[in-house]
Amino acid sequence: MKLFFVFTFGLMRTIFFTAFLFTVFGLFSQAQMVRNDMMVPDILEFETLKCDFHIHTVFSDGNVWPTIRVEEAWTMGYDAISITDHIEYQPHKEYIPVQHNAGYEIAMPHGKRRNIIVIQGTEITRQMPPGHLNGIFINNAAKIETELIRLKHSAKTSSNFMDSIDHELKDYMNALREANDQGGFVFWNHPGWTSQAPEGIEIYDVHKELISKGWIKGIEVANSGEWYPEAFQWCLDYDLAMLSNSDIHSTEAFFERSPTVEHRPVTLVFAESRSAEGIRDALDDARSVVWFNNMVIGREKYVEPLFYNSIEVSAAFFTDDRGRSYYNLKNNSDFIFNMVDLDTREKLDLLPRSSLIIQFDEVRDARRISVENFLTEPDNTLKVVLKPAG
Ligand SMILES: [Zn+2]
Ligand SMILES: [Zn+2]
Repeated sequence: MKLFFVFTFGLMRTIFFTAFLFTVFGLFSQAQMVRNDMMVPDILEFETLKCDFHIHTVFSDGNVWPTIRVEEAWTMGYDAISITDHIEYQPHKEYIPVQHNAGYEIAMPHGKRRNIIVIQGTEITRQMPPGHLNGIFINNAAKIETELIRLKHSAKTSSNFMDSIDHELKDYMNALREANDQGGFVFWNHPGWTSQAPEGIEIYDVHKELISKGWIKGIEVANSGEWYPEAFQWCLDYDLAMLSNSDIHSTEAFFERSPTVEHRPVTLVFAESRSAEGIRDALDDARSVVWFNNMVIGREKYVEPLFYNSIEVSAAFFTDDRGRSYYNLKNNSDFIFNMVDLDTREKLDLLPRSSLIIQFDEVRDARRISVENFLTEPDNTLKVVLKPAG
């Protein structure tokens, strides 16, 4: 008996020591990963969350495992992601079983270990109209697969033929009803994608019907390497949330190599709390802004404070003998500000985490500026006033 205790104690000690080693090793290997915090200010009474609500994995036509999406999001400084694999397009199904909820089920527990909010989602995939729509905040993607799509998956008929049947039956309505019944937030993806809008971007009657039913609550103003001014206007006209998503299929490293991508598109969400509920409330309230390449696109009430909360004008550090005072204008954010002085037409490019020197004098004690890459309407740039501190 005593011997048994000694033995177990010894064994336990070995187990604990091994566990300890694994923990230490785990900590060390984690310490080598670096999170690149995105520098974006909070505005008004909200926390600004950096989100990507359109991501693919091997469980549809993507090329990576869901946990890698969490690692990418963490490294890039995101707060939240949604994995939105196609229900209807399963090109890997001969090798990987069709599991519509797998992306979320695998990524979500990993997200907890990285403090990344993972929101359950899916992409409902039809020809235009209505095109592709993401349902996020759903609870079971498998139930959004319709009878007709199940038939299509099993049939040998050409997919074009089945698409036309689907179209006539408006079977997509069943999928959208289910997504909304699950409490999902549905938005219209890449409305100007040339494969589905070869004649140009267009909003169809069915979209207007879905918007009036509350079955579409947002539109992607930016997707991957493109953005759509018309979609920006529709969001303003119909009071919808604006989204800017990557629609990433490959790895982050390959995505960033695309010639049209300067950085992965980000949806900035202004939330009362850093939580899934906070994000949901914000989206329902259309409290979001598009950050696409060097552009920030959105309602003036959000775009304007993003500018003012990013910059600092110092006190004068020198006044010359002609009465001109010199100030430091500092950008604490990762935004680029391509500014034009509305009176002198002087150009001022303020780069991320950088400073410029600007001058004021007694006559010009404030400068009226247009921020050319910050849009408050498709044809309207953000206008701001720069003034010395104090
Ligand atoms: Zn799509
Ligand atoms: Zn997609």
